[in-house]
Parts: sequence; C-alpha cells; structure tokens
Amino acid sequence: MKTEYQALGFRAGLEIHQQLEGRKLFCDCPTIIRRDKPDFVVQRRLRAAAGETGEVDIAALHEMEKDKYFLYQGYYDTTCLVELDEEPPNPVNQEALRTALQIARLLHAKFIDRMQFMRKTVIDGSNTSGFQRTALIARNGYLEVNGKKIDIPTVCLEEEACQVIERRKEYDVYNLSRLGIPLIEIATDASISSPEECKEAAAKIGMILRSLPGIKRGIGSIRQDVNVSIKGGARVEIKGFQEYKSIPKVIEHEMQRQLKLIQQGKKPKEEVRKAEPDFTTSFLRPMPGAARLYPETDIPILIPPSLREEKVELLEEKAKQMEQLGLGKDLAEAIVKHGKATFLHDMAKKYKQVKPAFVAETIVSTPKTIKKKEGLEVAPTEMQFEELFRALDEGRISKEAVYNILADLGRTVKLDIGKYATMPDAILEKELKKIIEENKELPFNALIGKAMEKLRGKAEGRKIVEMLKRLNS
Ligand SMILES: [Zn+2]
Repeated sequence: MKTEYQALGFRAGLEIHQQLEGRKLFCDCPTIIRRDKPDFVVQRRLRAAAGETGEVDIAALHEMEKDKYFLYQGYYDTTCLVELDEEPPNPVNQEALRTALQIARLLHAKFIDRMQFMRKTVIDGSNTSGFQRTALIARNGYLEVNGKKIDIPTVCLEEEACQVIERRKEYDVYNLSRLGIPLIEIATDASISSPEECKEAAAKIGMILRSLPGIKRGIGSIRQDVNVSIKGGARVEIKGFQEYKSIPKVIEHEMQRQLKLIQQGKKPKEEVRKAEPDFTTSFLRPMPGAARLYPETDIPILIPPSLREEKVELLEEKAKQMEQLGLGKDLAEAIVKHGKATFLHDMAKKYKQVKPAFVAETIVSTPKTIKKKEGLEVAPTEMQFEELFRALDEGRISKEAVYNILADLGRTVKLDIGKYATMPDAILEKELKKIIEENKELPFNALIGKAMEKLRGKAEGRKIVEMLKRLNS
C-alpha cells in the first residue's frame, strides 16, 4: 500500500553540519564563538571568481549584484591572520580530522585514500576569502532508522563561516571568531520517505555525533538542512531549523506551498528557503550550481591518519543501560542528554536507599520545576547533588525536603541540608500525638492531611502515615 507521501512522490535528504571543539581547522585559534566588543574591525569587498567550469556560480552572482561591502570584527587573542585571509592556511588540524573520521566510521563510511581540500565559492561575505574550504573525507556510509537503511554518500570536513552580526543595505557586519571552526558535513541520499522519518534520521545522526568527545555543544553547534521535493514540484533546500523536532511541520508547510503552486498551474522554483519560527518557509537565495567548486592548492593532499581502535559507546546504548536501572525511556534519554549517565551509575552504586529514578528526576526535572514555580535558576554541581543523595540515603532528610533544599540553593547559593533535617522518631511521635489529640473529631484521612501539612519535609510521608496508623489505633 502506498503511503500518502509516496503518492505525492515525496523525496527528502538531509545535510547535517556539526561544529567540532578544540582548535580551528587551519590555524591554532580556539573554537570560542564571541559576541563581545571586538578589538578591531576590518572592511572588505569581495568578488566572485569563475569556478572550474569557467562560469561564475549563479548563487555567487546573486550576492555580487547586491554590491555590498563587509565589516569584520576580530580579537587580538582569539583570531589571527588566517581568518583575515592575510596568511595562508596552516596544515589541517589533525585532531579535528581524527574526530571527523571517527564519525565517518560510526556511519560505516569508507575513508578517502587521498583527501583534497576544495574551495567552494561563497561571496555573501561570510568567508573573508570568498570561498569555504571543504574536503570529502569518506563516502558510501549508511544509517539505520527504524530498521530502514538510509545511505550516506558523503562525509566532508569543512571550515565554519563567520557569524553575521548585522545586515544593512550598504554593508554587512560579521564576527571572525566563528570562522574556521572545524565543521563536519554529513549528507544522506534522497531516500527519506516521510517528514517524520526525516526528523528521526536527524535525531539519530545527532545522537551519534553527541556520543563522541570533541563535539561542540549548545545552540547553533548543529544545523540541519533538508532537501525536499514532490512530483511536479521542485527540489528545495530548507535551512535554519530552530530544532530538529520542527522538521516535519516545516516540510508539511513547504509541501502545501508547492502543491498550491502546482494547482495554480505554476512550476515551483529550485531554491534555498529559510525555515521560519511559524513553520513556513521564505526565499533565501537561488540553488547553488556545480560551478562553485575548485581545488584548494594551498593545502597538500592528505592521507587519512590511523585511528585508535576504541569502542565508542553510543548514547542510545547508554540510555538502554539507564533503563536497566529502572528509569523510564524518556527519563533515561534525558539523563544521558544531560551528560549524567556515569554520575547516576555512581550514585546508584553508592546510595542503595535512594531509587535511581528519583536521582534522575532530581537532576533532570527538579531544577526545571523550581525555575517555573519560583523563577529561580538552580544548577547544582555534582558534588552538591551527591551531598543531597548521601543525606537522603542516611535518612537525614526526607525526599519531600529535596525540592526546598534546591530552591534555597537558588536563593542563597548555599546548600543547607541541616535546615531540613528529619525529626528524630521520638519527637515525630510526640508531634503526631499532639495532632491526634487536637483533632479528635476528624476522620483518619483528614488527620493524615493535617499531619502532612504540618510535618512536610520533616519526615518521609510514608513514615508519617505508618506512625499515625499505629498511634491512632
Ligand atoms: Zn586563527
């Protein structure tokens, strides 16, 4: 049976860009992206060079016609002459190359014997040189998504472009700190057969990437571009997704836009479009052609270095282990995403009286709840978390007190466990007797409510109920 998407002739492919951490690809500058006040600003104009085919690329021409100049913000301590294109590139960063090859290996791709960096014409100003350096490092890999194999024809190692700070009519302002950060580009073929599958493939690639050290994290460190087409429509590249979860909605909107044009007897154009926050897309620029690539002669041809044969544990495998500790699937994934899988393992081993699921909830959800309810930012260190779990394990505090202790941490920057110490049993018994005495007419359930209200955080809820039962009978 054909799905709705097969009937439409739906085809999609993904291009994932991931920044690497450490040093830049062709100089020793650190991979720190800055937005603070620059030490200097340089002004440039760029023009498009003809590519290997002797033609000037259509996307490059589109930019040149705008006749803009560019301002580049730089820093004395974290940018150098390579970013300004005043000095030729240094030899390629071997650590970045190794990380990129490790990723290629996880994607079952075959390394290229002799890697040749190419120059890709880019003259929107985002590269001071007017081109981006890119090398094919591996090919013919694949990815498994829900039992289906999706081919990965190419894995490339590239340099990241400048970050745009401001666009004006006459000029654009760019910051040089992002330029030259190693970037890995993973492209799938167009065999993705539904918007949902596209999202799942993006999630899977993201999971594999985050399983390795040397991957940059945080907003903007990974980008997903989607190539999509339907029968009678045009291949469109969509960039700028806020997050991979929005992929299906954006694709649906783009298909609707193309279907509408087709119904009106118009032919959609091949172009690059931008994903908007409301899930629609808008025109960004024409689709670049093949005219934009030519060899980079400043960099010698590379032979892939040998990689250590070490087993990389994928995040999804780690999540499975977390589930074995009694965590639900979502919680297991969340704890791995927080980078706290090893920590949770340690806590589970050391503090047997505290359920691992409660430890995970405390790490993943409690700070979020505190932010929502109290408007407080709490980011406990592992040491502070451990202090809390140890106190809980030894019965010095109750589970109910954990929220308040962490909320106080947000207010005072001090982890005060003593303030919420549990009552010794003798005192608890005395308090409960008093409550029973004062509320003789109340039914038992209401009595529990009264006691909880008064003693919340001072003893485990379960203990209060048990003691109350015993005293009341
Ligand atoms: Zn540099």
